[in-house]
This record gives sequence, C-alpha cells and structure tokens, in this order.
Amino acid sequence: MFALTNRPGAVLAAAAALGLLVSGCAGSGPDAATAPPAPRPAPPPPEPPPPAPEDVGANELGDVPVLMYHRITSEPSGVYERTPEDFRAELQRLADEDYVPVTATEFATGDIDIPAGKHPVVLTFDDGATSQFQVDGAGNPLPGTAVPILLDVAERNPGFAPKATFYVFDPPFEEPTGQRSLTWLHEHGFEIGNHTVGHPNLGQVPAEEAQQEIAGMHRIIREAVPQAQVRSLALPLGVHPEDEQLAAAGSADGVDYRYDSVMLVGSNPSSSPHAADFDPLNVPRIRSQGPEGEDADYGSTAWLDSLAADPGGRYTSDGDPDRISAPQDAPPESPGADVHRY
Ligand SMILES: [Zn+2]
Repeated sequence: MFALTNRPGAVLAAAAALGLLVSGCAGSGPDAATAPPAPRPAPPPPEPPPPAPEDVGANELGDVPVLMYHRITSEPSGVYERTPEDFRAELQRLADEDYVPVTATEFATGDIDIPAGKHPVVLTFDDGATSQFQVDGAGNPLPGTAVPILLDVAERNPGFAPKATFYVFDPPFEEPTGQRSLTWLHEHGFEIGNHTVGHPNLGQVPAEEAQQEIAGMHRIIREAVPQAQVRSLALPLGVHPEDEQLAAAGSADGVDYRYDSVMLVGSNPSSSPHAADFDPLNVPRIRSQGPEGEDADYGSTAWLDSLAADPGGRYTSDGDPDRISAPQDAPPESPGADVHRY
C-alpha cells in the first residue's frame, strides 16, 4: 500500500524537477503562466448515421442462431464434439457470412449493438470442459482450446467480436474454485452462465433440490468473480424443473437467483428477442455439427445453410441500437416493442 499511495507524489516531484530543468534551459522563453494554451487535438469526426433500414435489408424481427458447443477435441467421440479445425472453420464461416457474436444476455435482452447489415449469432459453451478453456501457469489461455481459436479468428476478421457465453458446473474447467479461469473470462468480455452444480436432470428432482442445484452454482460463480453478474442458465440435458418458473427465479440456502434467459437444447434458430413468440425462458439452441451424422439436419451446418438460403427470415441489424427496424411482412413484434416498419 505504501508504494501505491506514494507513487503520485513521486511522479509530481519528478515532473516538478523536470519543469525546473526545462525552464532553466529555456532562458528568455515565455513564462508558463502566460503562455497561450496548447491547441486542443481535433475532436474525432462524428459517427456517420446508420443507413436507411431498407438499404441494408434490416430485419430485427428475424431469426437468430444460438449455437451450442461442448468439447473441442481432435478425437470426437460423438456428434456433440467438434475438432479444433471444424470449430475454426465454423467461426470463419460465420465471419464470412456477416455474423457478429453477442452474448446470451445481450441477445435475450435485445441489447444487440452490431453494425448495419450484420447478423447476431450467440456462441454458447456447455459443461466447462478443459478443451474449451484453461488458464496456463502464466495466466494465459491454453493454446489449442476454443477460446484462443475464437480470439484468433476475431483478430483475423475485424468486426467479428470475440464474445461467447460459458455455462459451467462445478468445478468450472476442472479448477477447484474456478477463480482464475472465470476471472480471466469475465475480464476479457466473455459471459459466465449457470449450468447447475452437478448437472442433474432437473425434471427428475424435487423443486427444493432443483433450486439448490441452481442457487449453489450461482453462489460458486459469484464467489469466484464477485464483479460478474450471472444472468443466464443453460438447463442440463435441456430439461426444465417440473415447475418451469424455478429455472428462471428461485432461492436456496440464502442465495436468490433471477435469470434473463434459460437455454434449451433445441433444434432450430431462435426467434428475435423483439418478436411476439420469443420466450426468454425457452431459448432453443442449435448443436454445432457438420453436414453428416446423426440428426445433422438439425445441426449448425444445415441451419446456417437454411438461413443463408432465406436471408429475409434472418435477423439483420439496422445499425441503430435504439431503433427496431423490420419489413412490413416481418413476424409480429412483442407487445412492448416499438418497431419501425418499412
Ligand atoms: Zn451440459
């Protein structure tokens, strides 16, 4: 503490010494007190206004792919797992097709601030697998895991934001407290979501136990990263508690939780958060999958093909986060939404 509080004084003293030295050398130069102020740097030019919604085909009532990843491994043992090469290729495809990642909570709350003409995509990772992320001894993401691949693709594709939501159970990324790994993710703009303590089928446990599973993991995340908000839950196996509402809000052991979104294991793109049929407590997700294999028709390759083939049905941003734009024939909006139709 002493060094920290002492530092400003030391800097001031150094600056004063430097000032004396400079004025000493300047001789007959103008006195600092009467010198004209240095010209201010020119302010940055104002942001150009976003284009007209119709010029970019804006449709903020269109569908959004919420992709679901599990392990990223060079030896997949089933359709839930992807190789690092396939993962990278899918991210590159998303960038090439003008998708921009947003977090689950940004999506579910309609806080989608991406440029005009771009499409939101939500990247979600379940189970806190070490193939998704680990912090190495130096405090950096372990090479070859999903996070550095995402960071690399983002760096190569300006505008492709490295954002994702990680739904973790206990222990996150096999780290006993989760503190190092979750803190790194939070500090680098990633969202941490709840996937319960022990990954039970919530439909098969009593209401009290379901709340303990959710509240317990809420507490672990908050203790690991006190500055992080936990605002989203992914249901283990995609199964709700018998009382569905308990997934979104409840309490146990002195911890209250309340979530903006609850993620399913779905098989189709989600409605826009501004659409009448959007249900934040039942957000369908698409499993990341190549064109082949079991249920590949419902996997990400097939769905990205479908969305590309029907661009009018896809969420396309108008570039103005304060306005919701959509064509006249877009789906109905939710009751509270003020939609600019064209
Ligand atoms: Zn899971």
